[in-house]
Amino acid sequence: MEGRGLARRRPGAGTARGTATGGETPVDDIRKADVVVVGAGPTGLAVAVGLRQHGVDVAVVEKAALGKREARAGIIWQRALEVLADLGCAREMTAEGIKLRRVEVFAEGRRAWRMGMECAGTAFPNPLSIEQDAVERLLGERLVALGGRVEWSTEAVAVRTGGDGAEVDVRTGDGGLTTLRCAWVIGCEGAHSVVRKGLGIPFEGGRRPDLQCVQLNAVPDWKVPYRPGHTYFFLERGLSMGVSPRPGGGYRFFAFLTDPDPTVEGPPGVEEMRDLVARSAHEPGVRLAPTDPPWANRARFQDRVAATLREGRALLAGDSAHLWAPIGGHGLNTGLRGAHNLAWKVAAAVRGWAADPFALLDTYSTEQRLTAEKVMREMRHNLLELPPTALALRGMRLVGGPVMSTPWASGRIRSMLSDLTMHHRESALSQGGGGDRLPDPFVRVRGRHCRLHDLLSYQRWTLLAAPGAKGPGMTDDHLRALVAGYRAPVDILRPRTDPDTVPRLPGKALVLVRPDRHIGLRTDRVEELEAYLRRWFARDAV
Ligand SMILES: Cc1cc2nc3c(=O)[nH]c(=O)nc-3n(C[C@H](O)[C@H](O)[C@H](O)COP(=O)(O)OP(=O)(O)OC[C@H]3O[C@@H](n4cnc5c(N)ncnc54)[C@H](O)[C@@H]3O)c2cc1C
Repeated sequence: MEGRGLARRRPGAGTARGTATGGETPVDDIRKADVVVVGAGPTGLAVAVGLRQHGVDVAVVEKAALGKREARAGIIWQRALEVLADLGCAREMTAEGIKLRRVEVFAEGRRAWRMGMECAGTAFPNPLSIEQDAVERLLGERLVALGGRVEWSTEAVAVRTGGDGAEVDVRTGDGGLTTLRCAWVIGCEGAHSVVRKGLGIPFEGGRRPDLQCVQLNAVPDWKVPYRPGHTYFFLERGLSMGVSPRPGGGYRFFAFLTDPDPTVEGPPGVEEMRDLVARSAHEPGVRLAPTDPPWANRARFQDRVAATLREGRALLAGDSAHLWAPIGGHGLNTGLRGAHNLAWKVAAAVRGWAADPFALLDTYSTEQRLTAEKVMREMRHNLLELPPTALALRGMRLVGGPVMSTPWASGRIRSMLSDLTMHHRESALSQGGGGDRLPDPFVRVRGRHCRLHDLLSYQRWTLLAAPGAKGPGMTDDHLRALVAGYRAPVDILRPRTDPDTVPRLPGKALVLVRPDRHIGLRTDRVEELEAYLRRWFARDAV
């Protein structure tokens, strides 16, 4: 393993890039792993699960003594559910969550519009209401099932990265200091990332002024009827109140509002939350009974993206890489999608599948940074959750209903929220018009009739050859011989769709699909496939 060649040194010594907050403290122990993941939040756990699925030896260190229980993310969108399916835990998540079916929006007490939340063309048509701590617990269980585990009460205090490996100094619960040597380190330790700071990677952006979010899980006594899977938004000047059903009963009340006094800290009391619900829902008599335990918090936000997500052998993912106000609910979701993009690439680097591991990992950095910037742009124009101005409210009341209810507008909102149309078209790894998520129509292949995505695997690439494409170099035997010359596994399929099938497959003879279901290459020429494989795939020793 590449990381094993590092010389033994004390924290802070040596010329490799990075810092040590541990000074010259003697190291008690030195251990080795292919990859060290710092932080067992949802992103770190998802990366670790993805790596274990590829058989990579991974150490996950987490400074907390146990998993958290706090009101943070509460929704998993459709694309992130596909990610969780690849990571082997979508079924468990859907069993614990509530499928969200419809959203109703009220502006100044009057219904402005409503919209179904279901998306076509995926095995997961509905978003899922589920607490972040349940997501973390289920990912943690999946990690254990794959032979991994979290080392709790273990805090990364310094990181160094050199040409052939990285080192992470960790302080354990008893105060001892251990150095973990690895080929790659992945910083998933949230906003205050030690990896990012230690390597001096700028976190570009700044504080989001005049915005706060207060949340409380509670059972309301009010006139709004309970409808399973219904989410409500109540818009009032300077206040957007979202109300989403919770697994286990009651609702998450989450309000984005202006922040007249940023010195106010601590979670909202029941009275503060009740007053906000009463004002926004025009229900002066509403009563809230907090759930047990009472999940409540108050948060203020930064909008930031790290200048690069790779520095030497260190990578950043999740909130340590990008951060924004959770308007639209995409922080955890984007972290999961990034973990899914990253884990197969790190696995390819560790297992020797990549022609140039650094170039491959740089595509993660480019793709995820562009994704983060896009999410932030969309978040700044989110009409549902940003505290509305008087003008926006007036517009919503007068034309909101007719405009937002058009198939075009509601389709656009669904596509934006679901992340199903997020793409990597600008990436060096996307050629011939590649980059999009592969559509997921029903297909016939090898005697099966099923969704196309059911035939893909996170552990390999897939080459889709059009059934009619049998010219020179395009027979199954030729294609099999071609991909067999490379180390990364590639499955070859010739799926047939019915003529009126929606969504349609890309109209090219050959479509090479990445392990994360994004299209790498679309082409009609086998020479272009050969060139793509030569550029990105390591060859088998002759
Ligand atoms: C109020 C609020 C509401 C939100 N709502 C939504 C929502 O609806 N939808 C959505 O998608 N997102 C939402 N988010 C965002 C979401 O919670 C985050 O994006 C998500 O938690 C990021 O996951 P992460 O694993 O990257 O980081 P974190 O969840 O921050 O996890 C980082 C982990 O690293 C550990 N750690 C930190 N430093 C070290 C160290 N030095 N050594 C070892 N371990 C360390 C921490 O203890 C923690 O367990 C919300 C956030 C807030 C604050």
